[in-house]
Amino acid sequence: MTDYRHLSYWLSGLDGPLTPRPGLPGDTDADVAIVGAGYTGLWTAWYLAEADPTLRVVVLEREIAGYGASGRNGGWCSALFPTSLPALARRHGRDRALAMQRAMHDTVAEVGRVAAAEGIDCDWRAGGTVMLARGEAQLQRARAEVAQAHAHGLTDDDLRLLDAAEAAARCNAEGVRGGTYTPHCAAVHPAKLVRGLARAVERRGVRIHERTPVTALRPGAAVTPAGVVRAPVVVRATEGYTPGLPGQRRTVAPVYSLMVATPPLPEETWARIGLAERETFSDYRHVIVYGQRTADGRLAFGGRGAPYHYASRVRQGFDREPRVFAALRRALGELFPVLGPDVPVTHAWGGPLGVARDWAASVGLDRRTGLAWAGGYVGDGVGTSNLAGRTLADLIRGVESDLTALPWVGHRSPHWEPEPLRWLAMNAGLRVMSSADQSEHRTARPSRRADLFNRFLGH
Ligand SMILES: Cc1cc2nc3c(=O)[nH]c(=O)nc-3n(C[C@H](O)[C@H](O)[C@H](O)COP(=O)(O)OP(=O)(O)OC[C@H]3O[C@@H](n4cnc5c(N)ncnc54)[C@H](O)[C@@H]3O)c2cc1C
Repeated sequence: MTDYRHLSYWLSGLDGPLTPRPGLPGDTDADVAIVGAGYTGLWTAWYLAEADPTLRVVVLEREIAGYGASGRNGGWCSALFPTSLPALARRHGRDRALAMQRAMHDTVAEVGRVAAAEGIDCDWRAGGTVMLARGEAQLQRARAEVAQAHAHGLTDDDLRLLDAAEAAARCNAEGVRGGTYTPHCAAVHPAKLVRGLARAVERRGVRIHERTPVTALRPGAAVTPAGVVRAPVVVRATEGYTPGLPGQRRTVAPVYSLMVATPPLPEETWARIGLAERETFSDYRHVIVYGQRTADGRLAFGGRGAPYHYASRVRQGFDREPRVFAALRRALGELFPVLGPDVPVTHAWGGPLGVARDWAASVGLDRRTGLAWAGGYVGDGVGTSNLAGRTLADLIRGVESDLTALPWVGHRSPHWEPEPLRWLAMNAGLRVMSSADQSEHRTARPSRRADLFNRFLGH
């Protein structure tokens, strides 16, 4: 049996056993069947049960709740949305774009509210995010981001430019020239959140069946080896694992993000680094990195850069990429020389996230078939999945609301190209981004190649 604790630092330290809940006992009737017990599936179940306790909601999970990205992520509960505000405004107009961004802002507080109300102790700390600009090219990107955000209706209260001293006062990394700060983010312990949420939905009468793989989704039914759940609404909440379902191979591409965690650092080290409010932190390089100061005083630090695997395959070994772990340690050492030349790391792990062809997250319910979905969050699903869950609960109950009017509702992304084109494009993209970072480091000029590639991918 899988040792689920090995899947991430977060799962490794949880109290109590990770014993799977009983599987599906046989054919079952329900009002809503949800496939996947990550944040998306569980938030959907939570809001459905809260709105209508008489609904029979069944969650089917191949492994255990929190097995996927929800039990392994960087713990940024942010208001980041994979489609930028300017891109949303181009597609849907300024007002709807701003409504989407405001809904994301509200979502951060909503996650904190429900976690507190349900007694989920997930090390919540709403300290915001500091994005560092290290070098001229990154500084230009920081300025451009703030200017664009303000041109689209946000203010300094949402995102503001920091000078070098202000940025270093929050996060004293090497070579900081400035940065940005947003209050719209909380650092969380992701596994405590997802496992606590699973218990909360059970208390509200939702049935969760673990070690129950769904082999097919069709109108009115989720099929498993143990039996069929017949339900008028079936929700797909499988994110990076979606290509494993029949007919879904090209819906989203799984992209791996990998992380490392240091041992708890001494107070003197934290006095040098900062992050006193447990701000989540990153910088303006192209190949995304992200970090948080954990409640037990570690640095948890992650990034992309692992290869995309042919035919959207997802395997456990893909979570472990020694080259990427080494690059993450190097990056941490460059950011914080106080960690020494050989940055100590106690845990290294990773997982797949889901990327749609147009880089757009979406949520929806096809009323004709009863099939619902949410995902494509790229690396921003901790908050976005909560908004998805609330929105799905409204759609499923036939309630028209501000949430169901948001522009991502019902959006259909195009399919990814068939192989080998998908493989070539994804891995070429990764190479472009990392060589752009290296050349910016050398020349201090923003990379046009990276911009061009982003445009090709549509984000
Ligand atoms: C390393 C890493 C770091 C990240 N950092 C951040 C971050 O800091 N902030 C942020 O906002 N986002 C982050 N993300 C993304 C975020 O974690 C995800 O967007 C979010 O967890 C997605 O939740 P989900 O419930 O949709 O999917 P998942 O949590 O992946 O859950 C899907 C579930 O479906 C189950 N499943 C799949 N197929 C089947 C099947 N056939 N039958 C039954 N069950 C099935 C899986 O076992 C899994 O439990 C990160 C992701 C990774 C991997």
